[in-house]
Amino acid sequence: MWRATIFTLFPSMFPGPLGVSLAGDALARNIFEINTYDIRAQGLGRHRAVDDTPAGGGPGMVIRADVLAAALDAGLAAADRRPRLMLSPRGPALTQARARALAAGEGVVLICGRFEGVDERVIEARNLEEISIGDYVLSGGEIAAMVVLDACVRLLPGVMGKEASGFEESFESGLLEYPQFTRPREWEGREIPPVLLSGDHARIKAWREAEALRVTRERRPDLIADVGKPR
Ligand code: SAH
Repeated sequence: MWRATIFTLFPSMFPGPLGVSLAGDALARNIFEINTYDIRAQGLGRHRAVDDTPAGGGPGMVIRADVLAAALDAGLAAADRRPRLMLSPRGPALTQARARALAAGEGVVLICGRFEGVDERVIEARNLEEISIGDYVLSGGEIAAMVVLDACVRLLPGVMGKEASGFEESFESGLLEYPQFTRPREWEGREIPPVLLSGDHARIKAWREAEALRVTRERRPDLIADVGKPR
């Protein structure tokens, strides 16, 4: 079973949206599991404090290195070889290729920051790899962790109805996906492109490839430059 362990100050947020639909079914079928570890369990003193003011001054609070390290040490076996990803806007952005690599492994450890982030020393000392979900700032790592998990879980064997459907999508080929249509054949005067109703699989494939290229050129020309390069 693919295992996710989440270090968070808000364990009740999980599985959250991962408890329904595709991911929820996979969870119920034990294709993967989510365990949470409440960082506050290692908090200090009567108030179980986990954060303190930033050294050097400035706004907000920083999660303490000793508290987060104690949580990681208590919550993970020494032999645990899963990647330890710290959600952070400073990390390289998650890609489809990374999601696929993570899904192919035994699971992932996700560490969710809050406030202004975490003390730099614990990132180094516990070998945490920073990963971002995009160039904007969230209030905490939990939703970002769900994004990473959702991207991975749908790629696990047996999760998607048709095994192949993961491979034809946006980014898998380096291109965005071609337009999709379904019944009715005509809607508000708009027709489904006739080639898709022709039954000619070679022509359909060619049309889809051309459309994927057109859409990508229009919307994400930066991706075209990367087609064929290892990602
Ligand atoms: N002061 C920090 C931002 C802290 S936001 C900075 O400027 O870099 C609080 C927490 O939300 C972070 O510790 C991180 O865990 C999470 N977070 C915010 N934006 C994120 C993003 N784009 N990707 C992944 N995690 C993010």
